Amino acid sequence: MLKIDEAATIPADVQAGLDAIPAAERKDHWPRATNAVKAFKRAVKQHGMAVQNAKCVWCESKVGFSGRRSAHRDHIAPKDLYSAWTFEPYNLALSCEYCNGFEVKKDLDTIAVLAPAYADSQFHIVHPYFDNPEEHISFVQEEARIVMKSLSPKGIWTISKMRLDSPSATANRALEAALKDIALPAHLAALIEQAMEGL
Ligand SMILES: [Zn+2]
Repeated sequence: MLKIDEAATIPADVQAGLDAIPAAERKDHWPRATNAVKAFKRAVKQHGMAVQNAKCVWCESKVGFSGRRSAHRDHIAPKDLYSAWTFEPYNLALSCEYCNGFEVKKDLDTIAVLAPAYADSQFHIVHPYFDNPEEHISFVQEEARIVMKSLSPKGIWTISKMRLDSPSATANRALEAALKDIALPAHLAALIEQAMEGL
């Protein structure tokens, strides 16, 4: 799991416009292609690809055109449960479609104690901005496998709920480790990039 120091910088007028939407309605604005929503999403994606080095915040799979999984903007506290934080930059990180998807995270309630301010809430999940994942989760090489070990209750919760120790996640880490030094020919990379943008 990745540690992220700073959230995306959102232009002040864009954030002000989004914050003016009543809290309960914000989640319904997320799919809309208004200029403010598009600008917010673009800033989150660009920032995330840079600071996360094009890796999923949870399982560290490569995402985007250089990886085999597509990059999703993941609400750490799900927007369907916490509509107010749909456009809270510290509530967003990039993840792969597997971790963000229906099977794993979707509406998983990641908050233990809700507070009026996002950063004052207590989270069940290891929070990529507020926690140091190394204090909660460690990677251990076991023969040919790279497995995750939990070091704290938060680590246990995160690995178990996010299924970071599943056979597919473990196999994927082994594959990523084996593939990381192989560069694709430019024409193949361009084709994959095009295909990913269509998703
Ligand atoms: Zn992932």
